Amino acid sequence: MGEYIVRCTACGRKQPQYALHCPDDTALLKTEYTERRLTPRDLPGIWTFYDWLPVTGHIPIGEKPITYRSTGLSGELGLNNLFISFSGYWPERGAAIKTCSFKELESAPTMQRMIERSGDETLVVASAGNTARAFAEVAAQTSQKLLLVVPSADMHRMWITKERSSETTVIAVNGDYYEAISFAETITGSPGFIGEGGARNVARRDGMGTVMLDAALFMKEIPDHYFQAVGSGTGGISTYEAATRLIGDGRFGERLPVLHLAQNVPCSPLYKMWCDDRNGAGCVSDNNSSDWKEMYTDIIYNRKPPYAVCGGVADALSATGGIMYGVTNREAEDANRLFEETEEIDIDPAAAIAVAALMQAASDARIRPDDSVLLNITGGGERRAREDCTINRLDADIVVNSTGQWEWGQEGEQEWELELNGGRVQ
Ligand SMILES: *Cc1c(COP(=O)(O)O)cnc(C)c1O
Repeated sequence: MGEYIVRCTACGRKQPQYALHCPDDTALLKTEYTERRLTPRDLPGIWTFYDWLPVTGHIPIGEKPITYRSTGLSGELGLNNLFISFSGYWPERGAAIKTCSFKELESAPTMQRMIERSGDETLVVASAGNTARAFAEVAAQTSQKLLLVVPSADMHRMWITKERSSETTVIAVNGDYYEAISFAETITGSPGFIGEGGARNVARRDGMGTVMLDAALFMKEIPDHYFQAVGSGTGGISTYEAATRLIGDGRFGERLPVLHLAQNVPCSPLYKMWCDDRNGAGCVSDNNSSDWKEMYTDIIYNRKPPYAVCGGVADALSATGGIMYGVTNREAEDANRLFEETEEIDIDPAAAIAVAALMQAASDARIRPDDSVLLNITGGGERRAREDCTINRLDADIVVNSTGQWEWGQEGEQEWELELNGGRVQ
């Protein structure tokens, strides 16, 4: 139980347990578990999937996704086997992720591994909001050292339902998400700080993979199709990897689910790269566009997703015969309205992008009425959470410009640089 090795997806060589890179190539690393069968454990939340999480112990925190069979949306779209995975807050259905997105599926196992590494580093996380919230919520309960780097425009998304830990620091960057990532990488280069690794972090991927595990246990099979809104595409890779494990188990079928991954056009780099790979014309996308300010949601706008890297999004798409979708603002608005009316819960704008892709697929017959479909509602229930939970704002301790120059903070610039080197930021 809880036994695994980490292996390079390109050269196949075994790697150290906490490695993020193979020394010989750029490929993603993946886990291989000793346990071949998925046996739900009598443990709380996400730790139900303990055997297929890269941990050797567990913090007493971490919720799991829920799966249910749709009647409302499925009837509307003429799909007879539509299942919904919901990661968010919806107590009536047993969904208890209070920061309201599936990023908590990543933060809990990652924080557990930080404890196992037994180093004293500060974990650095760059985020457009949902990831930062998920890590801050867990860190509020484990008191681990955490540094969040968030674009200023996304600071409105920064809240948690617990008392903020004194070990959590927030840096707001006056720039976009990519600039926040670059700045976080600079910090990670200083002693005393460690990056969480994004898509390279196997705890993040296997944590997200629990969406497919939970669904397979509920449906008793691997679904034919999987729909998700993507930014980095990590959720798509995770689903592919989890489905591969389920096939190895033997009780859930032998076919991988077709990945249907969606982005909001025109700022949709994954959609564009996928179209370019197929020489497709008419793919509206602009990687460097400033149009992101006009988008239905910018939370899934990642300028440098792990697309072509071995073990990345392109590999997951081609292994599953997958499809990328471009969704307009208008389609997203309609999808959001339809979902809220038929399923009766509010959803994250990113999740509406996945619903819109499902609507496209149902109307142009890319999926058949009897196919089994899993729709991943990656975030939702924020309105519901605000009724029930205490919402504590997470304000910035330090503000920097897009190149990481200090602009505003509690201490002088000198001190900030000095302290940064010592592994502390305040
Ligand atoms: C992060 C996020 C996504 C996209 O996730 P990937 O990392 O690209 O798989 C989708 N929806 C919500 C709500 C998110 O927070």
